[in-house]
Amino acid sequence: MSHEIADNLAAVKARIAAAARAAGRDPDAITLVAVAKTLGPEKIEPALVAGHRVFGENRVQEAKAKWPGLRQHYPDLVLHLIGPLQTNKVRDAVALFDVIETVDRPRLAQALAQALAPGAERGGRRPRCFIQVNTGEEAQKAGVAPGEADAFIAACRDDYGLDVAGLMCIPPVDQPSAPHFALLAKLAERHGLAGLSMGMSADFETAIRFGATHVRVGTAIFGARPTLTRL
Ligand SMILES: *Cc1c(COP(=O)(O)O)cnc(C)c1O
Repeated sequence: MSHEIADNLAAVKARIAAAARAAGRDPDAITLVAVAKTLGPEKIEPALVAGHRVFGENRVQEAKAKWPGLRQHYPDLVLHLIGPLQTNKVRDAVALFDVIETVDRPRLAQALAQALAPGAERGGRRPRCFIQVNTGEEAQKAGVAPGEADAFIAACRDDYGLDVAGLMCIPPVDQPSAPHFALLAKLAERHGLAGLSMGMSADFETAIRFGATHVRVGTAIFGARPTLTRL
């Protein structure tokens, strides 16, 4: 099992490198965020032992239970929050995560600004932020609408003073990803943002072709997740 995860990880890294080269890009310009949501330590440890350090989690509570202990052993861990963030969990998120990929509304941007203000108890931490764009304009999905993205990106930087590293999207499951990746890349370029978090197990090579700097891959590394029962 642990060999399998190390092998999968190596295979995904090789595919990332090949996709980068095919696109005339430097493979080192692409960060693999290994998505560990729902997984226990028996799955995460093999990836850590194999030398991987960048992980993504969907839920603040779950990450809070899993990662502080591991961080003592692996101080160079880099944790990304890739799921929706409620404003009442912002303090915990700032304390835990190095990158918050899901900034998507003014109330959240404001709460982050407050939690990051000089004097706020944040242990010197200052996560970088990605702004999530709902490129498919899906009602059930988080993210700022593309038509509102320009104003929101400007507000995050200028009004809220956030360290905006880039943009993130999750394309609709039932559509080709490419047009969504192209739209996100265009938006990022217009704002001079270098970071593009896009691409998952099924489409990370396409995302790299469109300029992804961060790909978020779970299943291709760790295998199928247990299906979640909603309480
Ligand atoms: C679960 C998840 C992923 C990883 O998806 P896989 O298909 O397992 O690679 C990537 N991004 C987000 C936001 C996710 O919730």
